[in-house]
Amino acid sequence: MPEMYDVKEHSKEKVILVTIASHKDKEKGWDPEDTALELRELALSTGANVIDEVLCKRDEVTPNLFIGKGKAQEIHDLIHAHNEEIDAVVFSGNLSSTQQRNLEEILGVKTIDRTQLILDIFAQRAHTNEGKLQVEFAQLEYLLPRLVGKGIILSRLGGGIGTRGPGEQKLEVDRRRISKRIIRLKQEIDAVRFRRSQLRRNRIEHSVATIAIVGYTNAGKSTLLNSMTDSQVMADNRLFCTLDLTSRRFSLSNNQKVLFVDTVGFIHNLPHNLVEAFKATLEEVQQADLLLHVLDISNPKANEHFDAVYEVLKELDAQDKPIITALNKTDLLENAFIVGRFMNSINNCVAISALKGTGFKQLIDMISTELSGLVETVELFLPHSEMALVSSLYKEGQVLERKDTEKGIYIRVTVSQKTKHRLHNFLQKPA
Ligand code: GDP
Ligand code: MG
Repeated sequence: MPEMYDVKEHSKEKVILVTIASHKDKEKGWDPEDTALELRELALSTGANVIDEVLCKRDEVTPNLFIGKGKAQEIHDLIHAHNEEIDAVVFSGNLSSTQQRNLEEILGVKTIDRTQLILDIFAQRAHTNEGKLQVEFAQLEYLLPRLVGKGIILSRLGGGIGTRGPGEQKLEVDRRRISKRIIRLKQEIDAVRFRRSQLRRNRIEHSVATIAIVGYTNAGKSTLLNSMTDSQVMADNRLFCTLDLTSRRFSLSNNQKVLFVDTVGFIHNLPHNLVEAFKATLEEVQQADLLLHVLDISNPKANEHFDAVYEVLKELDAQDKPIITALNKTDLLENAFIVGRFMNSINNCVAISALKGTGFKQLIDMISTELSGLVETVELFLPHSEMALVSSLYKEGQVLERKDTEKGIYIRVTVSQKTKHRLHNFLQKPA
C-alpha cells in the first residue's frame, strides 16, 4: 500500500514532549508516567523524533499559557540548550487557540496539542474517500478558530505534524474560504454516509448478525479479525492502524453467517470533537447485534483501557448491547493469575491470544451462544403470491430447507427476532 506521506522526511522532525500531570487523571488512575508513555507512543506514531521530555504539574496552570510562566521559560531554555534545532513542542493536553498562540510566541517554535497530534495520526491513516473527508473536516474545524493574526498560520506552513494530510494543500487559504470548504465537506460527508448506509443495509440483509470488534487502540482487534477470518487487515505496531472500516464475513460452527466489523481504536480521553468526526465509523458499533471487546490484559493499564472503552460506548449509547470480552495477549503473561482476576470481574469473557490463535474455539462458541438468543430457526408456509417475501428470506436469513408444493412453499429458515415478527402470519405451529 503506498504511503500517504514521505516517512523519511517527517521522521526528521525533532520534538520536545511536555506531559501535563493533572489531578483529574490521577483520580482516574492515570499517573504522570502513563500520560508521558501515551504521549510518546502517539508522537512516535506520527514519525516524530523525540529529543527531550518535560513533566509539568497542572496546578502551575495559568489561563493564558496553560502552563506556568516559569515553566514556559524553562522549556524555552531547553529548546535552546539543544544544539539540534527543535521543530516543535508537543503537549499532552488540549490547548485553546489563545494558549497555543501565546506559547508559540514565548517558545519560538511550533506548538502542537493532543488533538492535533491525534488528527495528524488520523490523517496518515485515512485511506478511503470518507475517511479523508472526515479528517480534512476535523482539521479545518480545528484550524478555523486559530486563524487569527498571522502567528499560528505562518508556523503551520512549515510542514510536519499538524500540516499533513488531506487538508495540507488548503491551509494557505483564508478564513472565508475555509468556512466555505467546511460547509462543502459537510455535504460531501453526508452524501458518502448516505451511500454507505445503503451499502450497509445490503450487507445486513445478507448476514444474520453483525459483530463489531471494539477495544483500545493496539489491543489486537485487527490481528484477531485477521487470524479468525484469514483476511488481510493491516496489523502492525503503530497506533490507529485501522482508521477506516474493515469487515469480514465468517461462518460459525453451526453454519450461521456473521459479519465481523473492525473499528477504529478507542483511546483514553478521545477529544470529543474527534468522536463526532469519526461518528460514521462508530455508527457501525451502534448498528451491531453484538460487540466483541478486545482487551490487552498484558498491558498494565488494562483496567483503564477497559473503562475508556466503556466511556466511548456510553457516549454512543451502545453500552447495553450484548458484549463478549476477549482477554487478549495471554501469551505474554507470566502466570495465569491475571487471567483469573479478569475472569472473576468481567461477565462473558474468554482468554485468547490473537497472535497465537489460542482460545478461538471457546470464543466462537461463546459468540454462537450469544447470537442464538438473537436468532431463531422457524418453519414457514407461504402462498405463491408471497414470492417477494420468499426471496427476501434468502437475503435476511439462512434458508435450511425448502419444499415447493401446489398450495405454496414450505421453508425452514434461521432469521433474526426482528424478521420473525414480520413473518408471524406464515409461521407453522411446531408439529
Ligand atoms: P488494534 O489496534 O487493536 O487493531 O491492534 P493490532 O491488531 O494492530 O495489534 C497491535 C499489536 O499487538 C501488533 O503488533 C500485534 O502483533 C500485537 N498483538 C495482537 N494480538 C496479540 C497477541 O495475542 N499476543 C501478542 N504477543 N501480540 C499481539
Ligand atoms: Mg486495528
